[in-house]
Amino acid sequence: MNAINKEPARSEDIRALDAEHHLHPFTDTHALNAKGARVIERAEGVYLWDSEGNRIIDGMAGLWCVNIGYGRKELAEAAYTQMNQLPYYNTFFQTTTSPATQLAKELAVLTPGDLNHIFFANSGSEAIDTVIRMVRRYWEVMGKPWRKTLIARNNAYHGSTIGGTSLGGMGAMHNQGGPFLPGIEHIRQPYWYGEADGQSPETFALTCAQALEEKILEVGPDNVAAFVGEPIQGAGGVIVPPEGYWAEIQKICRKYDILLVADEVICGFGRTGNWFGSQTLDIKPDLISMAKGLSSGYQPISAVAVGERVASALIEKGGEFYHGFTYSGHPVAAAVALENLRILREEKIIEQVRDVTGPYLQQQLRERLGNHPLVGHIEGVGLIAGMALAQDKAQHKLFDSNLDVGTICRNHCFANGLIMRACGNRMVLSPPLVITKAEIDEMLDKALLCLDLTVASLKEMGVT
Ligand code: PMP
Repeated sequence: MNAINKEPARSEDIRALDAEHHLHPFTDTHALNAKGARVIERAEGVYLWDSEGNRIIDGMAGLWCVNIGYGRKELAEAAYTQMNQLPYYNTFFQTTTSPATQLAKELAVLTPGDLNHIFFANSGSEAIDTVIRMVRRYWEVMGKPWRKTLIARNNAYHGSTIGGTSLGGMGAMHNQGGPFLPGIEHIRQPYWYGEADGQSPETFALTCAQALEEKILEVGPDNVAAFVGEPIQGAGGVIVPPEGYWAEIQKICRKYDILLVADEVICGFGRTGNWFGSQTLDIKPDLISMAKGLSSGYQPISAVAVGERVASALIEKGGEFYHGFTYSGHPVAAAVALENLRILREEKIIEQVRDVTGPYLQQQLRERLGNHPLVGHIEGVGLIAGMALAQDKAQHKLFDSNLDVGTICRNHCFANGLIMRACGNRMVLSPPLVITKAEIDEMLDKALLCLDLTVASLKEMGVT
């Protein structure tokens, strides 16, 4: 690590204030305050620097969002220019702004199929809440107001509002702060390595998709509004469904006339080597929720792209849709998103992920980490990957979740200049899309070192 001499008192002051006043998301505040938060001060490209001067390679693009990398002044300039011209105006009462309109048009062009109408929000969770309200509203408009049920998957992540938490399938989240929304059902996830019980990937794909049909029949086909899924589960640990899964899911949705929603908050904007994960996994959704990479995280903004079927019903027959946010289509966020899309397009960043860096990361991961004694299985597409930490590789036996082996590994990464996230006993990588081959090499050097350090820690604990 490149330590630069810094005033140590400064980070200590920030840490003290942080401990006194700041409640962090998804954090055990008591435990954090006992050791103090790391203070990130600046960033450039794929690197972060903390207040002690340590340089850290960001294998997670922030929270899966800084697709164009850090430090792009063009986005700062777009925000500055827009703030000077029109820092805010709403889009509620028969008004619009140029950035919101241009961005809607741009997204209509970029999204696959006939997703030609765009509803703006500010976060992935708000986009998902919009999806929940919109698909239910659609069925009301269609004269079937009883079609309320949304079906999602266990271990799916769809956000942290009450709607997002209800729709998501995260057990730990469901154990806090209920009751949750009625009219939401969950089916098994297509996690082949962890849950196939000896089935081949092809058979397991069908088994998991058939769980959707079973659930539809249990709820009653005429009560189901939509099925929602991430093309590749992200926060669940980067789980790529086996070949055949999405084709079968789509067949079932069509059979029962159920809307299909792709939650592309992580997969959107190049992560899998195409603009949308739906293109990589051959999904034809009726709606797409998106956020994160839409602005590369430089401004909070999200959207729902709506296909003709739903949009035309809402527009022609729906009257007023009583839904929206003060900052829906915020002109500064929209201007920044437009600039971000321009950079992604003109610098051919997504083509680079598809043709060069994506295949390189996937190949190097398997070649260099695949034989590591801790790594049970690696999966991923483009610049997103997950690996299961296994106690017994051949038997697909994962470590007991009480051991928190992912956190042990994550802490070694943190201490050694790499951000690699733990999702339970899976380690995940999702670097900025501008990462070079040399930077991928550096990231994997560090990942290997940290896996070795994790083995040493487990030995010390008497586990292996
Ligand atoms: N959906 C998916 C697939 C996500 O990964 C996330 C965030 N990780 C969300 C929704 C929620 O987004 P946000 O945190 O911006 O509310």
